[in-house]
Amino acid sequence: MKDYKDTRKHKESRPVVAICYDFDKTLTPDNMQEQGYIQAVGYEKSSEFWNESNALAENNDMDQNLAYMYMMLTMARGKVLFTKDTLRDKGKDISFFPGVVEWFDRIRQYGEERGVKVEHYIISSGLKEMIEGTKVADEFENIYASSFYYDEKGVAVWPAQVVNYTGKTQFLFRIEKGTLNINDPSVNESFDPDEVRVPFRNIIYIGDSDTDVPCMKLVTTNGGHSIAVYNPTTNDKTQAYKMMREGRIKYYAPADYSEGNELDEIVKSIIDRTAANEELERIYSDKRKEQRSVDENQSKEDRAKAEMILALDNSRNYATTHSVIALLKSVSDWSQAESDELFRIGAENSQVKGVLRDYDVKTFYQKLLNKAKSLNDNAKEIRKIIMEEK
Ligand SMILES: [Mg+2]
Repeated sequence: MKDYKDTRKHKESRPVVAICYDFDKTLTPDNMQEQGYIQAVGYEKSSEFWNESNALAENNDMDQNLAYMYMMLTMARGKVLFTKDTLRDKGKDISFFPGVVEWFDRIRQYGEERGVKVEHYIISSGLKEMIEGTKVADEFENIYASSFYYDEKGVAVWPAQVVNYTGKTQFLFRIEKGTLNINDPSVNESFDPDEVRVPFRNIIYIGDSDTDVPCMKLVTTNGGHSIAVYNPTTNDKTQAYKMMREGRIKYYAPADYSEGNELDEIVKSIIDRTAANEELERIYSDKRKEQRSVDENQSKEDRAKAEMILALDNSRNYATTHSVIALLKSVSDWSQAESDELFRIGAENSQVKGVLRDYDVKTFYQKLLNKAKSLNDNAKEIRKIIMEEK
């Protein structure tokens, strides 16, 4: 089996924010196939292509993405040579919403200045080859999208990957864990929370339609940030309102990626919050590591004894004190440090001090005094109290 180690990304010393984008109508005003390809294979209106494609899916219980890929392939016959280069070429014609081209580097820079590494990812049902032809292709750490398998002449013959809307969610787990290769099976392994590269709280998902709902929901319910965008020309917020109403998203904004616009403000605020929040998370992680290493170096018995001593110190009523004393009596080998701590509690904790002459408490401390190699002031004080006549 192939080793995917080289394709894995590991936890960084600084926090990573992953911004995941749907492609069509999130970064671009139109579906990618409508920006030249559909016209080239002979359709005047792109709606005719989609109607045929969706009917093909419906009439044959076919996945909608497999249907459009089949349509693209068959409709190209005799009209265009259906190769990777052709698709990449068509990708060059794709136009973007305002500010998209400059967005990626600008936001990366913004994160850099705040100690946060910003990474951009595409998760799209569209075609990877077309996205790879666009001028923003190099901005992404990874492009997860549908793609074709090409024969030895470079002609597309079969779908290699189909990314449908529920399948989109698997890529969020890949980004979370850094297991980026689509065939790397370790995406299903469980990771220690400290080793997770991009926790969901640091994932931003930006999308526009119902096909983004599973991803948005997954990100939102795990403490991340889902943003719906809408076309700034039509200003139609119907879909955004629906997603908000149904709890899929936290924010919505026009798909205008220019500096100073609402989307820019929201994403920058998320980066600011991540920088502050991750500092606290780092402290939490350090503390957890310290406690774990103490636990590892302590036997079960020693930990149980330490917890009993703590329970005695914390006992807030006499019934509890007596029941903790009963537990303490079952232990016979107290270390000097443990004995000293028990003496301190007996001498200083008024709850315990008040019952020192009760039979069970008295016999427990008597035994402890007899066994102790040396008696400190607390021990001497206890001896004095329990020797006094009532
Ligand atoms: Mg879309």
